[in-house]
Amino acid sequence: MEQLPHRHRQWMDLALAEARSALATGDVPIGAVVVGPEGEVLGTGRNEREASGDPTAHAEVVAIRDAAARLGRWRLDDCTLVVTLEPCAMCAGAIVLARVPRVVFGAWDEKAGASGSVFDILREPRLNHWVEVFPEVRRDEAAALLTRFFAERRGGVSSND
Ligand SMILES: [Zn+2]
Repeated sequence: MEQLPHRHRQWMDLALAEARSALATGDVPIGAVVVGPEGEVLGTGRNEREASGDPTAHAEVVAIRDAAARLGRWRLDDCTLVVTLEPCAMCAGAIVLARVPRVVFGAWDEKAGASGSVFDILREPRLNHWVEVFPEVRRDEAAALLTRFFAERRGGVSSND
């Protein structure tokens, strides 16, 4: 499969669109897509923790479940996962369990990232699965979505505080 940077950028467009759609339910805007060997989109997901009341409903987990259901198999070893934010420990674990060989992400998560910042589960030599990681693809756009979301939440009237 062709792995040129411009394809990563195109796929990130889809993940960014998923992230934006999370705003409708007040969810932190993070989006993901699972792309197949021919570049076809097999799964999509957005963070829907608020929408579904599910603490594990992160964009990557939702997209992986979507792709696995479509393919009828748990092993996604010919797929690429594209996500707007560096995967956390849970999502990196799900990526390893699904045998995803390649991850493309946008912004770093310096507080909870598990794909190269705080932890690096995707390239942990003690695990039996190694993931190729392409960070900082359209990083500024992915980060700006999050920055704006949290700034508006801090600045706006909040019933949660
Ligand atoms: Zn996660």
